[in-house]
Amino acid sequence: MPSNLSNAPKIANQLLDWYSQNAREFPWRSHPEPYSVLVSEIMLQQTRMETVLPYYQRWMSAFPTLKELSESDLQEVLTLWEGLGFYGRARNLHKAAKLVLSDFNGQIPTTLAELETLPGVGRYTAAAVSSIAFGADEAAVDGNIRRVLSRLFNIEEPIRSTQAEESLWGLAEVLLPVGKAGDFNQALMDLGSLVCTPKKPVCIRCPLQKYCTSFGLGIQEERPVRAEKKPIPHKLVAAAIIRRTDGLFLLAQRPENGLFGGLWEFPGGKKENGETLQEALVREIQEELSAEIKVGEEFGSYQHTLSHFRFTLYAFHCTLIVGSQPKAIEVKDFVWVKPHEMKTYPMGKIDRLIAEELLSETK
Ligand code: SF4
Repeated sequence: MPSNLSNAPKIANQLLDWYSQNAREFPWRSHPEPYSVLVSEIMLQQTRMETVLPYYQRWMSAFPTLKELSESDLQEVLTLWEGLGFYGRARNLHKAAKLVLSDFNGQIPTTLAELETLPGVGRYTAAAVSSIAFGADEAAVDGNIRRVLSRLFNIEEPIRSTQAEESLWGLAEVLLPVGKAGDFNQALMDLGSLVCTPKKPVCIRCPLQKYCTSFGLGIQEERPVRAEKKPIPHKLVAAAIIRRTDGLFLLAQRPENGLFGGLWEFPGGKKENGETLQEALVREIQEELSAEIKVGEEFGSYQHTLSHFRFTLYAFHCTLIVGSQPKAIEVKDFVWVKPHEMKTYPMGKIDRLIAEELLSETK
């Protein structure tokens, strides 16, 4: 254990004093109900606070209680989530609400073990809900806290390594002041966001400066240690804008599990080696919808980067070959719609862009 850990009670007290003066104000903090804490924590996974805030407000207006969320339609849930990304979080939150109603009598469970049975709730989210909403003495380690603790205790292992993870959770548990875990966890998060920032931490304003090992060594900007990033693969994707003679366009709904699950899109898929984009499109539409298409002019190309790969999508105007009738084979469903009706179908960023361009073209 690091030598400055003997200062654990002082570190906790200094941090709590600082927090009492500097806590950020968020809608879920004024009334930390379990449901509002759960929603905010799920939204904040992999998304910045500024982005989350308007989504959170709209969500709570649409689904003010867990019961209302559990009774809602997944399409409505995905529409509200559109633009926030990582759509599995929305599907999991919806499933979790149903599970709480069926298995926990409508009450969000209090223990880590039970919380972790909810879809989308891992160790950190369970600990955050348990400490913030229920006052349990549970340490929570998120991205901000990882950074603060890695600097405070000069963690030399790559931050996402198993060894660093074990050290960080162990340190967070030792620092935790009994009976004040909710405030303490949020104080560490706020310190990471306001003072111990990813670049150029403002050590001069830090209440923990005198206990901070990496500051003492002058290496705070070299912590946390990051493993070398592997380049992410690039894929080429083709999408079909299939228009019928009556002016309606085909939208397909992706299967519920997996990437962009449950969202609507202009159907298509990844180009395989040896294929042209047009050939890939003909094959994908055959596989997904059992339909034959004629591929026409290119409509546009779009770049998108996800956490584990990036892709360039080429969209093409297409028509169905006479007599060909689509069927939902590898898609959940499909519809024929006018461009102005597309806004009621939740979509990912690129498909929304295409839908908007189609709408402006047909106006
Ligand atoms: Fe972070 Fe600087 Fe405070 Fe250390 S002294 S915890 S590096 S802000």
